[in-house]
Amino acid sequence: MECDVCGRAMWRWPALPTVTHSEIWSCSWCHATTYMGGEWFEVVRPPYLPVEMRWDLAVADGLPADVSHAFGSSGRTLCGIREVGMSPSFDHKWEPGRGDACGACREEVGVIDERWPWAKRGEDARVSVARRL
Ligand SMILES: [Zn+2]
Ligand SMILES: [Zn+2]
Repeated sequence: MECDVCGRAMWRWPALPTVTHSEIWSCSWCHATTYMGGEWFEVVRPPYLPVEMRWDLAVADGLPADVSHAFGSSGRTLCGIREVGMSPSFDHKWEPGRGDACGACREEVGVIDERWPWAKRGEDARVSVARRL
């Protein structure tokens, strides 16, 4: 699938049992996410979010507790640490401004944020497709 934000290729997440959408696709360049096949929508494309609201906290047994990392993709933190069973926290966002936030994650977040075109940052810049009832 082509990314509607930057035009590059998106990759499909391995299925997560806790998620109701049947497919999740992410762009490896700008990290835009597209959900396919929800209950009310055929396609859900969440709008741009500022960096403080955008990233989930990475959770894994092997990660040290004194540094917080952003969940990147499929078992990997944004700064590249791989741990088996890593998942995004559904309760906590990763906060780049916190004292224990990983510096490499923070840097990566800044780089990715710059890749998201200004014209695509409006609330209506991405289009979702409602399910026809
Ligand atoms: Zn993209
Ligand atoms: Zn990190």
